[in-house]
Amino acid sequence: MFSSQTFFFAVVGDVHGHMHQMVSHLTAWEERSRRPLDFVLQVGDFEPHRHNADLATMAAPTKYRHLGDFAAYHQRRRRFPWPVYFIGGNHEPYGHLDLYPEGFALAPHCHYLGRSGVVELNGLRVAGLSGIHREATFCKSRPPLASMGDVSNKDFTFFNEEDVERVLALGRADVLLLHDWPSGIIPPEEAADFQGQRRGASHDLVGNAYARLLVDALQPRLVLCGHLHRRYAGTVQHPGGQRSLVRCLASVEQGAEAFAVFQCREGTLQEIAMWE
Ligand SMILES: [Zn+2]
Repeated sequence: MFSSQTFFFAVVGDVHGHMHQMVSHLTAWEERSRRPLDFVLQVGDFEPHRHNADLATMAAPTKYRHLGDFAAYHQRRRRFPWPVYFIGGNHEPYGHLDLYPEGFALAPHCHYLGRSGVVELNGLRVAGLSGIHREATFCKSRPPLASMGDVSNKDFTFFNEEDVERVLALGRADVLLLHDWPSGIIPPEEAADFQGQRRGASHDLVGNAYARLLVDALQPRLVLCGHLHRRYAGTVQHPGGQRSLVRCLASVEQGAEAFAVFQCREGTLQEIAMWE
């Protein structure tokens, strides 16, 4: 069980290289609320490009290729005020990240959780799965990193069976970080509202079954996702009575909808309103 002291942490949706905006939004909240954040969790599409060579290994159309703010943090000209833990999305410099599939620190206070990984923060066990789903290659291994440049960058953006099994083997998680949403969290009456939304290859379904499998197996208190650039709150009720809160976040460029803050107190985990 996590620590009995009270602490706050923030969750951030897709950053897409806008680290300065992320930092200024959260530091403004800390100042206004007079509550310090202990750490920040991020749900992928962080885009930590050090330079153009990193950017060249990201899968994205040309119009979305921007270096972004990360170089300033990597070159120590700026510093994240709190430890930031992120998973990979489908727009990342995997040429760099995949050198360390178990995760690593890219800069002070900036940690990649790996293709699959777990970290314990103030006793809170946070597990993550990087990438998105593609059924056609799910049971295959990813191309070797040495083939980067010869094969499509996109081939590096998918999780596979082995990654999912590694997360399952972690056994227990209080918080689960996913890039794409788990399937089955949108009630049928809201489905029409998701028409035209970017989604997986599986026709009109939002989310994917493997993300859902992880939610069902690990039964975390909190599931955090991004990818669709849309804020949404749902719950998954497990047969044993346990519930998982599912919080999906918008992208940082969209503003306040990209952010959420949670309070941990005496073993409870609760979302708090950021701006009252
Ligand atoms: Zn995104």
